[in-house]
Amino acid sequence: MYILILFITLQAVAQTEDEKQMRALYDAALVEGKAYDWLNYLSNQIGGRLSGSVQAQQAVDYTKAKMDSLGLDRVWLQPVMVPKWVRGTPEFAYIETKPGVTTNVPICALGGSVATGGRGVKASVIEVQSIEELKTLGIEKISGKIVFFNRPMDPALVNTFEAYSGAVDQRGRGAAEAGKYEALGVIVRSMNLRQDDYPHAGGMNYGDIPDAEKVPAAAISTNGADLLSTTLKLNPDTQFFFKLNCKQLADVESFNVIGEIKGSTHPDEIMVVGGHLDSWDLGDGSHDDGAGCVQSMEVLRILKKTGYKPKRTIRAVLFMNEENGLRGGKKYAEVATTKNENHVFGLESDSGGFTPRGFSFDASEENLKQAQSWAKLFEPYNIHMFVKGYAGADINPLKNDKIVLAGLRPDSQRYFDHHHAENDTFEHVNRRELELGAASMASLVYLFDKYGIISSKE
Ligand SMILES: [Zn+2]
Repeated sequence: MYILILFITLQAVAQTEDEKQMRALYDAALVEGKAYDWLNYLSNQIGGRLSGSVQAQQAVDYTKAKMDSLGLDRVWLQPVMVPKWVRGTPEFAYIETKPGVTTNVPICALGGSVATGGRGVKASVIEVQSIEELKTLGIEKISGKIVFFNRPMDPALVNTFEAYSGAVDQRGRGAAEAGKYEALGVIVRSMNLRQDDYPHAGGMNYGDIPDAEKVPAAAISTNGADLLSTTLKLNPDTQFFFKLNCKQLADVESFNVIGEIKGSTHPDEIMVVGGHLDSWDLGDGSHDDGAGCVQSMEVLRILKKTGYKPKRTIRAVLFMNEENGLRGGKKYAEVATTKNENHVFGLESDSGGFTPRGFSFDASEENLKQAQSWAKLFEPYNIHMFVKGYAGADINPLKNDKIVLAGLRPDSQRYFDHHHAENDTFEHVNRRELELGAASMASLVYLFDKYGIISSKE
């Protein structure tokens, strides 16, 4: 009986400690947070950070200097070779309904696309809803035309990332597939749930197609896509013109930026919190993923600020080249394996700097249950999602059957208004939403550090 009472009392005391520690973390982020100021610099002084660009290198230097100033145990750069694709001079496109009767439409080259050549590409258009439809149409209907992929993201899906997954194959593989049917080019409806005039960039891949057979690919704004579709219905002979000036150059050296607080009792157990430092080039990459980078740095800062001494080693990793290669994430995992490092936990923020709702876990049932048992602690901060799911692209290469991988899950409704587009800019990030995300991440790191990762039974 006494033992039971003692146990309950200890639990109550422990609970209070966790509540206090989390309150201190949220205070440190909300009252005197640094994440927003860092993001301001990254976005407004540096700007879009495409892999291999001057801006990407400036971002490496800036975040390294900021981490150096936090009094961490170690800060270093991890070299990684990255692809260097450049957009060149701005793209241009128009719809031509009759010879000389044209309407300009906003497009942008997809990352990794070949250029159109100096004269551009002009051809009639065949609209499709899916890659599968190409097979039905066959080479005789597609050859010599521009293929227009126009399947929208499904607006019925509440999780907009699911809608994105359901449509993004058109952007990723559309050009490679259409090329097999002798298409001259590919135009893809932007991955955007909103009607507007911004074309959204993003990666695409030709697979192992020889250079001579690669067809150029561009995204068109959602308004542009609707206009093209309507025009084609009225006049199937409509022509489309587009010109891309992009180029794939040789790989260049870049870096992952890493800062670390050494663990006091289990220094060999490593917990990673991260985002990716590179971004697309049309906007300044504030949501994708400047937000995740500054939040990860803020996690280390506020853990230190509150005087918390982690048992395990906690690292903030700013990964390079998530967008068009994932080389940083792969390199980090490769080095971890070479050095025989024991990574027990990874948390990524790469879903925008919006109001955090919770976390998704790519982990064992036991660890998911453990995280769910902390739901009460998060209640005062309106964090309620503790679900099974994908964690993040950069930490995914660390995956094994023991590690706990988690992803911050902010509200996703506005994310694809900005994703990879010119309007992914600093003014669309709300200071408090960003800070709440950082504090929530720090709280999860704190809890997993304190209570440990449950290793599975076998
Ligand atoms: Zn991202």
